[in-house]
Amino acid sequence: MIARVTLDLALGRDFDYAVPPELAGRVSVGARVKVPLGSRQVLGCITALLDSPPARPLKPLIKVLGTRSLLTPPLLALARWMAEYYVCPLEVVLKTMLPEAVRREQAGWRARLFVQPHPASGPLPRLTRRQLELWQLIEERGGLPLQELLRLTGATAETVRRLEDKGLITLAPRIAERDPYGAEDFLPTEPLPLNTAQSRALEAIVAALTPATPPPAAAAAADPLRGEGRTFLLHGVTGSGKTEVYLQALEACLARGRGAIVLVPEIALTPQTIERFKARYSHGPRRTLVAVLHSHLSAGERHDEWHKIRDGRARIVIGARSAVFAPVEPLGLVIVDEEHEQTYKQEEAPRYQARDVAVWRGHQEGAVVVLGSATPSLESYHHARRGKYTLLELPERADGRTLPMVRVVDLRQEVREAGGVPVFSRRLREALAARLERREQTILFLNRRGYASALQCPRCGYVAGCPRCSVALTYHRPEQQVRCHFCGHTETAPARCPAAGCGHPDIRYAGLGTQRVEETLRRLFPRARIERMDSDRLVRKEDYRRILGEFRAGQIDVLVGTQMIAKGLHFPNVTLVGIIYADLSLHLPDFRAAERTFQLLTQVAGRAGRGDVAGEVVVQAFTPFHPAIQCAKRHDYAAFYEQEIEFRRQLNYPPLTRVALLTLRGRNEDKVRLTAEHLGRQLDTLTTGLPELIRCGPAPAPLTRIETFYRYQLMLRTRHMARLSPRLGALLDPFLLPEGVTLTVDVDPANLL
Ligand code: ADP
Ligand code: ZN
Repeated sequence: MIARVTLDLALGRDFDYAVPPELAGRVSVGARVKVPLGSRQVLGCITALLDSPPARPLKPLIKVLGTRSLLTPPLLALARWMAEYYVCPLEVVLKTMLPEAVRREQAGWRARLFVQPHPASGPLPRLTRRQLELWQLIEERGGLPLQELLRLTGATAETVRRLEDKGLITLAPRIAERDPYGAEDFLPTEPLPLNTAQSRALEAIVAALTPATPPPAAAAAADPLRGEGRTFLLHGVTGSGKTEVYLQALEACLARGRGAIVLVPEIALTPQTIERFKARYSHGPRRTLVAVLHSHLSAGERHDEWHKIRDGRARIVIGARSAVFAPVEPLGLVIVDEEHEQTYKQEEAPRYQARDVAVWRGHQEGAVVVLGSATPSLESYHHARRGKYTLLELPERADGRTLPMVRVVDLRQEVREAGGVPVFSRRLREALAARLERREQTILFLNRRGYASALQCPRCGYVAGCPRCSVALTYHRPEQQVRCHFCGHTETAPARCPAAGCGHPDIRYAGLGTQRVEETLRRLFPRARIERMDSDRLVRKEDYRRILGEFRAGQIDVLVGTQMIAKGLHFPNVTLVGIIYADLSLHLPDFRAAERTFQLLTQVAGRAGRGDVAGEVVVQAFTPFHPAIQCAKRHDYAAFYEQEIEFRRQLNYPPLTRVALLTLRGRNEDKVRLTAEHLGRQLDTLTTGLPELIRCGPAPAPLTRIETFYRYQLMLRTRHMARLSPRLGALLDPFLLPEGVTLTVDVDPANLL
């Protein structure tokens, strides 16, 4: 037998090895193996097993890692599709699919000291009160890891040893699964009675779920009657009860013997969200049903969570982007919450879009896919309009509350009246004062951190720019620094204009950031309790939790923040949301600028009025009549879609086409430009067979220079990316790049800058 192996090294091809007889029983497609390569030993993954005799003598496999294959056949098929579609080597895709903690050779379970009670015999010996408390807990839990016992009780290991001396317990190492949420108790929740719209959505989803047919994987491949898998777009305004629909759909999926994956954006993986899912499954044996995968887990925790899934003990996986690869078998349901979020796109190879991967995987494995959002991506809504996805609507808030009243303030008018750009319009100031008076809470949103967006000399026009990137430096007042928000370059803020021959002492700060909002706020409302939340302020995740905790407990009146506070948070006492500059994201050179603005405004506005008091939103804008702002004001997604899709249609942008963005990067600008031009001529040969292919560029990227690298772009647009991708791969494979120039291909890019 021959094993075909994709190595972890980026070699761009597979290698064949002989399977020695002693390993024959242990090899399978998807298994991790160690193989010889030259004089080295490297790790890889079996991607095929062939029965034919080898044409030439082959080196044998050295070792099979672990007891079972890590990749299921459907996941391997998914990897192949991704490699082709995203124009990326298979080994890079496989690396992304298996977490590092699982891939390592010595990856394994960890033995921990475990406290085990002895069955009670006769009366208890004399114990101190402390010892008695400990003993009772140990007995009640029937044993638990020592660390957990110490954490729960605050006792010392010494006290536990005493109990051992008295013969009440034994302490011994035992393989203990690391449960990242083991220390937390979740209050169980029961399914809520659904309203009409929710019921209708749930029924449609449940009707599409098909029972697992054992043995699952083989049957799925052979049975022509298997469920094809269907994709639903659940469009529900914020607070419409989408999560309750997900929870009940998950229940139905489990009842059919299938597992499920729930994807949420990384930023939404707050304790609050995880709790909502964990709490439904927190009773007794169901406790292990939910596994969580996200970037804050330790390698050990990730290893254990992953194997809980692979072994089938965990049946529901909740996680960020890469959880779409969780080895759930058989897969019944994939939920992608906040499906419009940009974080579903990975910005390094493989540059996959997890939402699209979910749809593809669902289709392959006969699973139902539910994409949920209050502001669906134009892509998904377009598919729904054309019948490719089934549209489910939840038009009202589930708790009977009304959507917040949105007022748009024309900042141009304020400028005329105030003679400068105010941070707070009169309307927002008054609304704030009223909230402070009534002891209600306010969220102020500005999607720019720092104090001022630029440092400018009013005499000579000098603007402090990053020496490594083509952007202005942002002024950070508490630190008296200017910083580049792209590369992190930092300098001391100059006291006078540094331009040669100028030296003007009165350098100005243009534009504003969250620091300045906070400062102005403190001046206007000196007695208010104010906190700021952005990535400058929150270096550690404990800060994030602490501030949210204080805000929830009512110890903060006003929370100022960037998009960190825009999403997923649910605070009943917030009755006012202020958006300082709504146009900030509107004029970026990206065809999705309006879509992003509409989404952001709607999401931020959705933070208001989640409790008993109706919410109010004040939106300050320089272009108050822009459709993105007006439609957000009226909570009218459909109207926004109609006018935006027209714009995309006229310009042949997604979702009417798909984009492949090729970026060349290097320190020598001439070399980069010449390579881009050469590549452009090569790309012209692709048009045969793809007559509608549109090619733009080469042109300097909107942010031409980043971290001292010049970047040039070529954009291809086609209605048939599945046909373009393999041809692009074939064309680029032999394409030789000059030294110092790199090329990246981004299919369906989320970001054009
Ligand atoms: P979404 O995920 O759409 O933003 P949520 O699931 O957070 O909405 O629901 C908003 C609020 O409405 C939550 O407090 C939730 O408990 C409540 N809720 C959801 N469904 C119902 C229902 N059928 N009846 C009453 N309250 C509900
Ligand atoms: Zn920079």
